[in-house]
Amino acid sequence: MIQVAINGYGTIGKRVADAVREQPDMEVLGVAKTRPNFEAETAVGKGYPLYAAIEERADQFGEAGLEIAGPVEDLVDDADIVVDATPSGIGAKNKELYEEYDTPALYQGGEDADLVDVSFNARSNFEDAVDADHVRVVSCNTTGLSRVLAPLREAYGVEKVRATLVRRGGDPGQTSRGPINDILPNPVSIPSHHGPDVETIFDDLDIDTLGMKVPATLMHMHSLNVTLEEEVDASEVRDRFADESRLFLIPERMDIDGSGKLKEYAHDSGRPRGDIWENCIWEESISTVGTDLYLFQGIHQESDVVPENVDAIRAVLGAADADESIETTDETMGIGL
Ligand code: NAD
Repeated sequence: MIQVAINGYGTIGKRVADAVREQPDMEVLGVAKTRPNFEAETAVGKGYPLYAAIEERADQFGEAGLEIAGPVEDLVDDADIVVDATPSGIGAKNKELYEEYDTPALYQGGEDADLVDVSFNARSNFEDAVDADHVRVVSCNTTGLSRVLAPLREAYGVEKVRATLVRRGGDPGQTSRGPINDILPNPVSIPSHHGPDVETIFDDLDIDTLGMKVPATLMHMHSLNVTLEEEVDASEVRDRFADESRLFLIPERMDIDGSGKLKEYAHDSGRPRGDIWENCIWEESISTVGTDLYLFQGIHQESDVVPENVDAIRAVLGAADADESIETTDETMGIGL
């Protein structure tokens, strides 16, 4: 069994821990937190050994009635791999710790691409991460774009991508984020940094992105235009996407008109935390005009990177090839709405 340490048990970390626990070849060795809060309490409730990420604050856990298994150094030392799910920039500071104990590490999309050997998306470049020591699972938006672009590149070739990313202001728990009543060009400079991030997965891709932020917490929405290298019928693209396990084509009959109903559907379907691990593409929006393909897709920022972290663990440790890993992850998590 692969022993997995999770350093940073917030939005992404707690979801990765639960997904790892579902895997037949992995175990959660422990999770590290900086301070006791509701997430620390639920981690203990789920039976995850809790480690103190910051030595000086370790006493706070005991005072809150939470037993600590040890310092984060012990966790990193004993683990086969660490998933660092700390806030942007902290992963870079933790790299030294992982190197000290010679433990390979996964980082998240908030870290810079040059921190790592490989930026990762399971569908697009699984093999690149085999035996790498430091791997970055790309952001929610880059994951969402990569999953769509990989099959299009393989089948038709992609000449140019233009994408507008309408981003949620914050996650549901991020009470300090906004905007509350505004629509922001964000970043206001064009093209945005999101395109170059997708190029860390496909280095020869021509992509321009624009970013906005809106007063929403549920999901991001992408408006996508891909100029293909050949003319293709929209129905053919729909069929191709339907074969991709991490692309959910929202059928017209479901009458899902936006992120609100998508999340409601996820809850009704019994998804943990209402998570939607798949890209949600409105089937009717998939259209072609000449060589131009258009579509709208919703991206659940809190969860689409979770199966990617599970696959990255197997890639780094050479525990499975891409198809085997994706299949196991999909099956155990229940991916495929
Ligand atoms: P979060 O704030 O929800 O969780 C981070 C956790 O790490 C918190 O519990 C925090 O207390 C803890 N932490 C802080 N400093 C720490 C330290 N030194 N050691 C250990 N733990 C520490 O953040 P998040 O949304 O889970 O984001 C984590 C990473 O994932 C970031 O790189 C982010 O860019 C990326 N990401 C976030 C989303 C999203 O929408 N939330 C989506 C994709 C990728």
